[in-house]
Amino acid sequence: MKTRGLFGRLWRDYVSRYASDFTLLVPALALVAAAGVSYALILKYTTDGVANDQPNVVFLAPVAVLIATSLRAFGMWAQAVLSQGLALKVLRDLQGAMFAKLMKVDFARHAREEPGKLVSRFTNDINVVSEALVRGAQATIRDALTLIGAIASMLWFDWVLTLVVFVVFAAAAWPLQLIAKKARDKTKEAQIQIGSLTTLLTETFSAARFVKTYSLEDHEIARTDASFEERRRLSMKLAYNRASTVPLMEIIGGIALAGVLWIAGLRIIADVMTVGDLIGMIGAVGVATPAARALGQFNTAMGEANAALARIFGLLDEPMTINNKPDAKPIAITNGRVEFEDVSFSYGEGPALEHVSFTVEPGETVAFVGPSGAGKSTIFNLLPRLYDATGGAVRIDGQDVRDVTVASLRASLSLVAQEAAMFNDTIRANIALGREGATHAEIEEAARGAAAHEFITALPNGYDTVVGERGANLSGGERQRIALARAFLRDAPILLLDEATSALDAESEAKVQEALARLAKGRTVLVIAHRLATVRDADRILVLDDGRVAEMGAHGDLMAQNGLYARLNVLQFRAE
Ligand code: ADP
Repeated sequence: MKTRGLFGRLWRDYVSRYASDFTLLVPALALVAAAGVSYALILKYTTDGVANDQPNVVFLAPVAVLIATSLRAFGMWAQAVLSQGLALKVLRDLQGAMFAKLMKVDFARHAREEPGKLVSRFTNDINVVSEALVRGAQATIRDALTLIGAIASMLWFDWVLTLVVFVVFAAAAWPLQLIAKKARDKTKEAQIQIGSLTTLLTETFSAARFVKTYSLEDHEIARTDASFEERRRLSMKLAYNRASTVPLMEIIGGIALAGVLWIAGLRIIADVMTVGDLIGMIGAVGVATPAARALGQFNTAMGEANAALARIFGLLDEPMTINNKPDAKPIAITNGRVEFEDVSFSYGEGPALEHVSFTVEPGETVAFVGPSGAGKSTIFNLLPRLYDATGGAVRIDGQDVRDVTVASLRASLSLVAQEAAMFNDTIRANIALGREGATHAEIEEAARGAAAHEFITALPNGYDTVVGERGANLSGGERQRIALARAFLRDAPILLLDEATSALDAESEAKVQEALARLAKGRTVLVIAHRLATVRDADRILVLDDGRVAEMGAHGDLMAQNGLYARLNVLQFRAE
C-alpha cells in the first residue's frame, strides 16, 4: 500500500507531466516485444515450410527475419532513448525540487544532517529512482508483453510440451531464488566492508604526517592488512555463491532439453506435433527467458527505489517552522536597536539560553564573552531567525523578529563569521553576494572600505581572480577582508561579528581591525570574542555563563567587580 502511495505520487507529481513522452514510449516497447515474439513464429513456419518442400519459404523466411530484426532494432533504439529521456527529466525535476527545499528549510536541518549525507540524496537516491523508472517502464510493458506473447505462442505450438517446460522451470526457480537471495545478502555485507575499507584508507592517508612522525607505519599496515583479508574472505563467499549458480543453470538446462527432446520426439513421431513446433518452441523459450529474468530483477529494483523515494519525499515533505506569518510586513528600521527580553532557547536537550535580557542601543558596540558553550552563538542564531526563541522575544526597533518578513529581517543584518564563506568564483562575484545587483563601482568601494582593494588589484587578474575551492587561493586574512567587503556592500544597520579576527596573524589582524572600526561606525554592533584583549574597546561587555547573563558593563567596571569577567581575563593572560 505504502509502495503504491510513493510510486503513485512519483507518477502524479513528476512523471505524468511528460505524458507525451510516454505515448511514444509505449508503442516502441510494444514493437520490441512483438518483434521478439515473431522470431519464434518465423522459425516454426520456416521449418514446417522447408519440411513440406515449399520453395518460396526459402526466400520469404530471410525477408521476414530482416524485417523483424529491423523493426526490433529501431524499437530498441527508440525505447532506450525515450525511457532514458523520460527518466532524466524526472531526475532533473526531483533534484531541483530537493535542492530548492533544502535551500528553504530551517537552518536546524542543516545543523542536524552531515553535508555528505545530503549530497548522497542527490547522487545515490536519485540514481536508484531513475534506474527503477527506466526498468519499470521496460519491465511492465516490454517484458510482460514479451512473456505473454512467447507463452501464448508456445501453448499454440504444443501445450503438452509447454507444460513440461513450465514444470522444469518452476522446479528450478526455487533453488535459484535461494542462491540469489544469499548472494544479495553477501553483496550487501561486502559493500559495507568496502565502505569501511575506504574510510580506513582515506583516514590513514590524510593522517600521513602523524603516522610518519609517530612511526605508526607497521601499526597501520597491520590494520589495513586485516581489512584486505576481510575483503578477500567476503568476496570469496560471493564467488562461491556465483560459482554454484552456473552449474545449477547448466544442469537445469540439461534436464529441460532432455525432457523436451524426449517428449517432442514421441509427439513428432505420433504426428501430433511438427518439427516446426519444436524449433518455434525453442525460439520462444529463448525470447521468454531474458524477459522473465528482467521481471524477476524488477522487484529488487523497485524495493530499492521505494526506500530511496521514501527518503526523497520525506525530505520534500519536511515541515518548516521558520516562516513568514500571514500578515508579516517588511521590518521598519528606524535606528537599529536590538532587544532581547527574557529570551529562553533550547536546541532540544538542555537549555542553551535561560531568561536572557539585554538591549544594544543604536550605534553601540556590545561584546559577548563567556566560556565556550555559554550561549554566545545562540544569541547570534536567534537574531536572523536561524532558530526561533522558545520563550521571550527578540526585537529590532521594537518589532518582534517573528512578526516581520524573514527576508527583510535578514537584510537588516550583516554577519561576519570566523571562517568567511567562499564560493569557487571570482573575487568580484564573491563580494557581490553581499547585495544583489551591486555595480562594480560599489563593489570596489566596499573593497576599499575593507582594506581589500590593494591586495585584489595586486593579483594578476584583479577582481576577476577565481578564489578556488572555499577560497583556497587566498590567505585567511584576505578571505576575511573579502567577507568584510561583503558587509560594507550590504550596508545593513546591524552588524554581527563572530570572532572575526581570531584566526589571523598580527599584520592581517591590524588591517582587519581597522576595517572593522570603519564598518562599525554608525551601526549597532554585536561581537563575539574569545580573546578578551580585542573587546576592551566595546561600549559594553555582556558576560554569559551557562545560558544566563552573568555580568554586564564596561571593561573597567567589570574588572572592578572582580567576577567572572575578571577571572576569565586572568586565565587568558596566563595562557598567553
Ligand atoms: P558558545 O557560542 O558560547 O560557545 P553556543 O551558543 O554555541 O555557545 O552553545 C550553547 C549551548 O547549546 C551549548 O550547551 C551547546 O552544546 C548547545 N548547542 C549549540 N548548538 C547546538 C546544536 N546545533 N544542537 C544542539 N545543541 C547545541
